[in-house]
Amino acid sequence: MFDSDPTKICSTLKCRHTKLRMALGHIFHNTKTPISVADIQQIFKSQNFKINKTSIYRELKFLTKNYMLNEIQLDGISTRYEFNKTNPKSYLICTKCDQIIPIEIDNQIFETESQKISKKNNFIINRHSLIFFGHCHKCQQNHL
Ligand SMILES: [Zn+2]
Repeated sequence: MFDSDPTKICSTLKCRHTKLRMALGHIFHNTKTPISVADIQQIFKSQNFKINKTSIYRELKFLTKNYMLNEIQLDGISTRYEFNKTNPKSYLICTKCDQIIPIEIDNQIFETESQKISKKNNFIINRHSLIFFGHCHKCQQNHL
């Protein structure tokens, strides 16, 4: 959707080319894993880009509403954002360090199951996301 060029957000949405929007475009373009507002603030701080939290929230809301970003909300973990890619995304989530690891799921296996779910609930499924909770490699070692 976003392609490789972050500046395409504005040509796609026909919205204003703001400094914040471009900065966020670059961040999401260069980040492989879903990130939180705190992560974004950290990156802006390191870039010496002064912007208040409210503006970041407002912008994230705008981009989410326009399907540019996916908002990932989970119990007990701060909201994360990522580029809205058309392919379904699934994750491993470490419940100890809150790390989110995107994974690839064999969609052919899941296809049959989602068709059954769709039929049973009379619900058209556009996309899906699978989330597995557990402990990451690092946290397993700390446990010992
Ligand atoms: Zn962990």
